[in-house]
Amino acid sequence: MPPEPRFFNTLGRRTEPLAPRIPGRIGLYTCGPTVYNHAHIGNLRTFLFEDILRRSLEYLGYQVQQVMNLTDVDDKTIRGAQEEGVALDDYTAPYIESFFEDLATLRIQPAHEFPRATEHLAEMIAMIESLVARGHAYEKDGSVFFRIASDEDYGKLSGIDVDQVVQGDRVASDEYGKDDVRDFVLWKAAKAGEPTWPSPWGAGRPGWHIECSAMSMKYLGESFDIHCGGVDNMFPHHDNEIAQSESATGQPFVTTWLHAEHLIVDGQKMSKSLGNFYTLKDLLELGKDPRAIRYLLLSVHYRQKLNFTFEAVEAAAAALRRLDDHRFRVEHATEGGTARTAVGEAAATLQADFAQAVADDLNLSAALAALFGFVKETNRLLDAEGLGEGDRSRILSALGDVDRVLAVLDPGRWERPSSDGPTDDEIQAMVEERDTARRERDFARADALRDRLAELEIVLEDTPDGTRWKRGS
Ligand code: AMP
Ligand code: ZN
Repeated sequence: MPPEPRFFNTLGRRTEPLAPRIPGRIGLYTCGPTVYNHAHIGNLRTFLFEDILRRSLEYLGYQVQQVMNLTDVDDKTIRGAQEEGVALDDYTAPYIESFFEDLATLRIQPAHEFPRATEHLAEMIAMIESLVARGHAYEKDGSVFFRIASDEDYGKLSGIDVDQVVQGDRVASDEYGKDDVRDFVLWKAAKAGEPTWPSPWGAGRPGWHIECSAMSMKYLGESFDIHCGGVDNMFPHHDNEIAQSESATGQPFVTTWLHAEHLIVDGQKMSKSLGNFYTLKDLLELGKDPRAIRYLLLSVHYRQKLNFTFEAVEAAAAALRRLDDHRFRVEHATEGGTARTAVGEAAATLQADFAQAVADDLNLSAALAALFGFVKETNRLLDAEGLGEGDRSRILSALGDVDRVLAVLDPGRWERPSSDGPTDDEIQAMVEERDTARRERDFARADALRDRLAELEIVLEDTPDGTRWKRGS
């Protein structure tokens, strides 16, 4: 039996066992991108955390249904389209495509549904109508607002003191004529030059928060298991989602709320408005390996800030090289004699410890520690006595098993963005690593590296000053 997963639920701020509504199944909603620009790697950190969450749940035997919205109408997308003088759909289309490319590059599994706000106006309008009918919302000059005073529990997720609510930019903009400054907009009356849709309150467009309530409930039901986003989504976005959804249905909306901490640069949140961001494509152009980026993003616990530096990308690449060297050794080892009991034991330990680690609120450091323990143990065995019959595939299948979550271990599955192969820096690092291995008389490791370099058509020349290298034909 796989271990029972436990998560830190933002709602209630406690680590608690996952209690799916339907045993063995999880409905998962993950707030998606606003498609007014390319995603930056901060955004991608959150999406990658959600990928690890889904893969971990699948690894632990759950069947997951994941829904991720695409925010293709809001102030930013509208402004972008206006500035370029194009239709909203034409403006967002390339960013949606770019987002899907980024997911594929980082091997983030696509959600089962990617509903777009502009294709779910009917659901949003129906929900706003029911909120008005139940006295939770009111119309003013063609706009509709949610009446916060009508919701006793308002703010229960973030724990915000509702009397102290400071309006965020996404809430404050475009709002006028509210009964109470804290109320938030559900429907915005038409403004000149903006795209609009017809509604019972006249032409207009939906607010941002209603989109996620309407679309999550359409695909996952009135109550579902897990809802995620970055910490900045907690308030007001997720508190507003809860208020709208629970006021409209009278049912609890979501059982477990998970929030990923930010990716930061020089102590500040990476964001478009601060201009301190890299897109994934920027990093690829700089020759960074997407596999190392995936490794880096997954290796820091999702509830800790991740400080992005190029040194950290290099450290991730070095960790992957250690894993690749091990894999190469295993793949090329000859088998002799009967299977070694130590291999079976190491594989069983890896499997048990890895499952335990991911079930413990996605403790990826412990999961990676289990993996490196397995690598060390099997490397030791290779040095000492070599592999017995069937051991090679036993080791590779243990790696393949944990790679269902990590998705970084099989270099063959990662296509490089260009056909150029490793960068000069990466080759230099491999050459230096081989020199170190030789100095330390770790000849097996040195030979494995030499073979890999040969595969890459790198010609080595050993000189008294160290090893020189050049690319072959
Ligand atoms: P947006 O495209 O602005 O709607 O954001 C998409 C997702 O990225 C949301 O879940 C945000 O919470 C998340 N996000 C934004 N900035 C960062 C950051 N620096 N680090 C991690 N996640 C972020
Ligand atoms: Zn959302």
